[in-house]
Parts: sequence; structure tokens; C-alpha cells
Amino acid sequence: MAAIGALAAKTAERLATPCSRCKTPGWGRVAVEAGLGCEFCGCETGLIAHEVHGCVRRPHTEREPRPDGLVFAPKMLCEACNP
Ligand SMILES: [Zn+2]
Ligand SMILES: [Zn+2]
Repeated sequence: MAAIGALAAKTAERLATPCSRCKTPGWGRVAVEAGLGCEFCGCETGLIAHEVHGCVRRPHTEREPRPDGLVFAPKMLCEACNP
């Protein structure tokens, strides 16, 4: 039951978020972009670099930083550093 409650709360939160441009409720994540840079060599990794948030009514989107604030990938997850 606890898990269902958390999911419902998350859905409600998304419905309550208005688009910054047209104010339509429902603004939220529509896609993610991989390619977070390695902290050591700067190469792109498979980690998510940005989230793409979009409007439900119009085709505008905005890139948002990762919710966890990570801006570099750990080098242990980099293919160039760990061939
Ligand atoms: Zn909008
Ligand atoms: Zn690297």
C-alpha cells in the first residue's frame, strides 16, 4: 500500500506543475539525454546528462539538470578510463 501511495503522490505532483510558458498543468519529464561527461577525461558516458521536460499541450521542451545534481560521471563508469 505504501508504494501505491507514493506513486499516486508523484502523479499528483506532476499534474500540479504548470508549464512555465503557457501555464498548462502537466509539465514534466518527457525524455532523458545520455552522455554525462567523465570526471577524469571528459568523455561522454552512458549516464544521463540531462532530463528533458516538456509541456503536455505545446511542443516546447526544456533541458533540466539531473535531479541528483550530478554534473560529472565517476571515472569508474567511463569506458575510456576503464577499457
Ligand atoms: Zn506550455
Ligand atoms: Zn574517463
